Amino acid sequence: MADAPGLWCQQLGPPVPEDTSPPALFLDRDGVVVEEIEYLHRVEDVKLIAGVDKIIASCNQNNLPVVLVTNQSGIGRGLYGWREFAAVQDRIMEALSSLGARIDMVLACAYHDQAPPPYKEDGHSWRKPNPGMLLAAAERLKVNLSLSWIVGDQPSDIEAGRAAKLAGGVLVLSGRTSQSASAGVRSRGGYRVRVTYSLAACRFLVEYMKAAEITLGKDPSARAERAAIAAIDQ
Ligand SMILES: [Mg+2]
Repeated sequence: MADAPGLWCQQLGPPVPEDTSPPALFLDRDGVVVEEIEYLHRVEDVKLIAGVDKIIASCNQNNLPVVLVTNQSGIGRGLYGWREFAAVQDRIMEALSSLGARIDMVLACAYHDQAPPPYKEDGHSWRKPNPGMLLAAAERLKVNLSLSWIVGDQPSDIEAGRAAKLAGGVLVLSGRTSQSASAGVRSRGGYRVRVTYSLAACRFLVEYMKAAEITLGKDPSARAERAAIAAIDQ
């Protein structure tokens, strides 16, 4: 779906029904859905983080699209190729599927400022912390970015959500960021930032997005915002 050598975009779930614009849950991959392995490219190294399937399945049941957004500079650097990436993705999707969970769309960006051609690009719009992958997914799936959240294990994930004007971001400690380093990632303006141990602890996001979507349909004013805040601040 993405016609550039360094970009990947794959729709796996059903199309979002017309005349709806649901919130989406954006997920970083490594350190969030699967255990962090530097430059993960071997299927035998894929290991789901415990409990993440339940949050993803809960989004599926509530018609909230789940979108994987992953920087893949390892491809840009020539450490592995799209073939290995695809095999790893297949393994992750199989593992989730066996637990009743589905990712709706996958986007990846191989561009990096240190990569050789054709993957050398400084600050590509799709490479987090830039919001390009989130914006591209929103356009294709017609999701409501202002009610959506991102979960990531690095500050660049959280910043991509801020740049895409999401409702907020959750920094999880299951990957690359330590608790002490997480202190520097803060809410600012209307963008909320939370820190939890794992995506498995993010059920509150499903509640937030459900409440915000339901209420928005009835009253697109302050009521949606109040319901959303009540859900998130519980
Ligand atoms: Mg990560």
